[in-house]
Amino acid sequence: MSRAVLIRYDEIGTKGKNRGWFEDMLVGNIKKSIGSFGKVRKFRGRIELLLDRDDDLPQVITLLALIPGISSYSPAARLPLDASWEDIEAAALPLADRALAEGRTVFRVTCTRANKRYPSTSVDLQKRLAGTILKARDGRFTVSMKDFTFELEMEIDADAIYLFSERFPGTLGLPVGCAGEVLTLLSGGIDSPVAAYLTMRRGARSHFISFHSPPHTTEESMRKLRDLTLVLRQYQGTGSRLYIVPFIDIQLLIRARCFESYRTILFRRMMFRFAEAIAQRDGMKALVTGESLSQVASQTLENLTCINDAVEILPVLRPLITNEKQETITIAKKIGTFEVSIRPCADSCTAFLSKIPATRGKLAMVRAEEDKLKPEIDALFAAALDATEIHDV
Ligand code: ATP
Ligand code: MG
Repeated sequence: MSRAVLIRYDEIGTKGKNRGWFEDMLVGNIKKSIGSFGKVRKFRGRIELLLDRDDDLPQVITLLALIPGISSYSPAARLPLDASWEDIEAAALPLADRALAEGRTVFRVTCTRANKRYPSTSVDLQKRLAGTILKARDGRFTVSMKDFTFELEMEIDADAIYLFSERFPGTLGLPVGCAGEVLTLLSGGIDSPVAAYLTMRRGARSHFISFHSPPHTTEESMRKLRDLTLVLRQYQGTGSRLYIVPFIDIQLLIRARCFESYRTILFRRMMFRFAEAIAQRDGMKALVTGESLSQVASQTLENLTCINDAVEILPVLRPLITNEKQETITIAKKIGTFEVSIRPCADSCTAFLSKIPATRGKLAMVRAEEDKLKPEIDALFAAALDATEIHDV
């Protein structure tokens, strides 16, 4: 007997002709994350990890919970197809004993026989295995097909028999990479890291861009951004680029020439325009933000219209647009970004906040205000592009 983990995916299963391509991408991501623990292979709508060492199982279980595209997974005893009934019993009884130790004594056996050449039918196998357990642990178990607290599952595939009794929930979604690459506008707040995570879960590999106003933003805020990207890295398997943009000169120009109430909108337009330029240059297909409808002044529909107008081609993905803050916080805690996000430190906008932000910005007004930045803005924009640092995280 050897130790394996059976990994399932569901949404990929609906992908028709492209299914193999999605599967291969998921297999690739799983190999990157846990390939060092054993052999990974795909078969009949499943992925199997054949573990080199039993001791690695806890770590593998933890890592699999992070990989988008997986619906559930089960640590399993793996037996050869010609295993004797004694071998099957020997693999099943420890699973039953563990349930017994946890006080779960009502059980059922479920057998799936994908390999129709296997000599016994599923129903026969279920009966026989249930009988084995009842007899070996005399009087301590009862069987119920409906009200069971312990389910022993047996799967018979082309090459092996698997026995297992646990199904860990996966994170669902699609394999990272299948949607291409995107650029997340990452502030130090709670929302944008969650937005990045939700986009990764729909298959997009994310890079990050953050706008800074030294000296108003500090080394501490830099560290915070790096730490956020490190947490998010776990979900995409590989590292990403973090673009750090010095934004202070553009902000100073806006502060000097434009209406204070339009400042935030104008900053945002510059950020979006800049992010789009980087994304187009470096092959990213969308921008991602943590904006949420009506949450703050810059997120009214009128102001979103004014901000969005600065983007020419790429879609702007706003996965949190209808989220309640509390829902976003719950996800941030689950994925491990919350603790980093709540570290106090200034971000580029808090240093330049206007006291009376317009909540119903007018596009004509915004454009007129932006005209006041000419002609210097083009040179500042180009200088910021030149001075942007690219960190591999
Ligand atoms: P967050 O919690 O992500 O900071 P927020 O609720 O504070 O969001 P805003 O400050 O209005 O909302 O920012 C809206 C979105 O704009 C952010 O989620 C982020 O995507 C982007 N953004 C804001 N400030 C910056 C910045 N300095 N650098 C990069 N992106 C930013
Ligand atoms: Mg913020």
